[in-house]
Amino acid sequence: MSVVLAVDVGGTGLKGAVVDARGREVAVRDRPTRSGGSAVEENLRELLAELAAAAPSRPVAVGIGTPGTVEEASGTVVYASNLGWRNLPLRSRLEETTGLPVAVGHDGRAAGRAEQLVSGTHGSFVFVPIGTGISAALVVAGSAVSGVSGAAGEFGHVVVHPDGEPCPCGQRGCVEAYAAGAAVLRRYRARGGTAASTVEVVQRLGADPVADEVWDDAVRALALGLQGLTMLLDPAEIVLGGGVSGAGPRLLDPLEARLRSLLAWREPPPLRTARWGARAGRIGAALLGFERVGIEPAFEF
Ligand SMILES: [Zn+2]
Repeated sequence: MSVVLAVDVGGTGLKGAVVDARGREVAVRDRPTRSGGSAVEENLRELLAELAAAAPSRPVAVGIGTPGTVEEASGTVVYASNLGWRNLPLRSRLEETTGLPVAVGHDGRAAGRAEQLVSGTHGSFVFVPIGTGISAALVVAGSAVSGVSGAAGEFGHVVVHPDGEPCPCGQRGCVEAYAAGAAVLRRYRARGGTAASTVEVVQRLGADPVADEVWDDAVRALALGLQGLTMLLDPAEIVLGGGVSGAGPRLLDPLEARLRSLLAWREPPPLRTARWGARAGRIGAALLGFERVGIEPAFEF
């Protein structure tokens, strides 16, 4: 069975896998993201070499999912603030080094399409990966809306609090400034809390008022953003992914209640966490790789 090399490039880690056409991960390799644009690219090359060595057969393609603004037709990362990439022709550069066909796409959009492939839902579908940053895949009629410049789906930078807290993007009051994993941890520490990770903050919910306060702010920011998406798209489902979605009911329950309270005359769409879980980004990247060489994968969950 043909396999692809798939890498989900994130602000804190590169998550790689050798994936077959059924969506099975034959080998998994992760490494932390080194800071700085060229260091990240070097890191990515090393990871691809490691994955190729672990593959059971010669991979047919490489699929890369990255955050930021991505021109998928040319495989160019126009701007990725968390990675320090600007106008990087990533596809052609990786095709040179790997000798394989490469597809570069937006991480959230790719993961959203992979998620919808196994969800069986029809109609509009919203996938919101919440990790170091936040984006959204708006899947309408089976394809993810990419926008005229590849910048669609920047849900994390929808402003929900005018004159709110500064966001690394330069705006104020973005969803991401409150609800991203990095923001939850930063805001918890700014209030005197000591925690090594966002997961630790979540573990203290119900026992630590500072954790509760910061989490409530995150939920509120997300709910305000999702209210807008609900009004615009009337989605069949809203699916939350990324590391923060690992909070499960501690995220879903208050979020559903908040969203409901913001909707006076309609029900909120069903909310759930991603079926692929932490794998959604890698499976999305694999989907890009298979599509690059005209293979329609039959992912099974
Ligand atoms: Zn922002």
